Amino acid sequence: MIIQPMIRGNMCVNAHPAGCAAAVRSQISSVRKWRAEQGQPKDSPKTVLVIGCSSGYGLASRIVAAFGFGATTIGVSFEKEGSDTLPPKNGTPGWYNNMAFDREAKASGIESFTINSDAFSHDTRKKVIEIVKKTDKKIDLVIYSVASVVRVDPDSGKLYRSVFKPIGEALTGETIDAMTGKITPIGTDPATDEEIFNTIKVMGGEDWALWIDQLAKADVLSEGIKTVAYSYIGPSLSYAIYRDGTIGEAKKHLEKTAKKMDAELQASLKGRAYISVNKGVVSRLSVGIPIIALYLSVLFKVMKEKGTHEGCIEQMERLFAERLYTGGAVPTDEIGRIRIDDLEMDPKVQEEVKKRMATITQDSFPKIGDLEGYRHDFLVSNGFDVEGIDYTADVASMESI
Ligand code: NAD
Repeated sequence: MIIQPMIRGNMCVNAHPAGCAAAVRSQISSVRKWRAEQGQPKDSPKTVLVIGCSSGYGLASRIVAAFGFGATTIGVSFEKEGSDTLPPKNGTPGWYNNMAFDREAKASGIESFTINSDAFSHDTRKKVIEIVKKTDKKIDLVIYSVASVVRVDPDSGKLYRSVFKPIGEALTGETIDAMTGKITPIGTDPATDEEIFNTIKVMGGEDWALWIDQLAKADVLSEGIKTVAYSYIGPSLSYAIYRDGTIGEAKKHLEKTAKKMDAELQASLKGRAYISVNKGVVSRLSVGIPIIALYLSVLFKVMKEKGTHEGCIEQMERLFAERLYTGGAVPTDEIGRIRIDDLEMDPKVQEEVKKRMATITQDSFPKIGDLEGYRHDFLVSNGFDVEGIDYTADVASMESI
């Protein structure tokens, strides 16, 4: 079967198994090169749990922990498997990414355990605890990198759905078609109180706190444990849809959760809980957010011109080496958040992006935005447009990479 990208409403709905595997290998190579240049780390994680391990920031965190520091990793994600049934079923990119990660880890003698299961359920937490107990190890780093549109509350069984909406006022903005570069107006009604509540339920800190609480009760966290959840702030021009919108409320809840968790972990295990504010990158969810898609394509162009552009893997290399494992105190902003969005938020970068965004038209876009780079990242996250892959060749199996 020949697999070409299937795009529906600015989402890529299929994945190329060999392309996903090659993209994972490319991230691993980048980490190996970086580690060779860096020399021996001053400090390192040994046993790492990554919740949301199969793509984007979670996958990059896991690759850095395993291939940059040799850590045992336990990865949790919720992906649709591929199968060679009749007709064959294409798996989600994360399914193939996990397979590639495990294969490369095994080949390098690095221990890894991957669980395909709903992170929001108590059962998944039990499975992780069982695995950790069998290894006779304790977890010293928990990365929380789940991005989801739905969550079933593990106690009530109620399903909550998150939305990307502004609060208070309707929003009109523009978005970009990743494949054609066509800029189109896009509008969104303000969220209802219920939608705000539901988004906090899905993307706020409740589930992260349940994980840490249950892992601590099961005595599988080591003394000095660190845990990090990821957030985004971005430029003021996206505040209406992001920071001041429904997702921003969820992120504020996540940040509040970090404060409480940090105090509790310091008292019980001499541990720490952090928020890391990361750079905007193309992810499976971000392509559908008004303003953000256009902003990212302009941002990429400006950062590439300045030589400061980063993807998930470069961000996570810096998070581990220059923030979490320096051998000293973890550098944070004045309210305790780790900032690796520093290069994105550089005032010179933001000033230039703002200037370009104000003058953007369909005609000027190819010059002032990085459509090619944006489209490349969009396709690569589904295993397409990956160097070295022949997309005209027959794919023999949907079940393996
Ligand atoms: P992503 O979509 O690439 O990855 C999300 C992960 O969550 C996947 O591994 C997926 O399997 C997992 N997941 C979703 N639902 C799950 C469930 N029910 N059970 C288990 N796993 C589940 O997302 P991403 O863009 O890497 O985002 C990760 C985090 O980083 C989010 O908190 C996001 O807000 C934050 N962040 C993203 C950006 C960005 O630009 N993408 C920027 C800064 C911060």
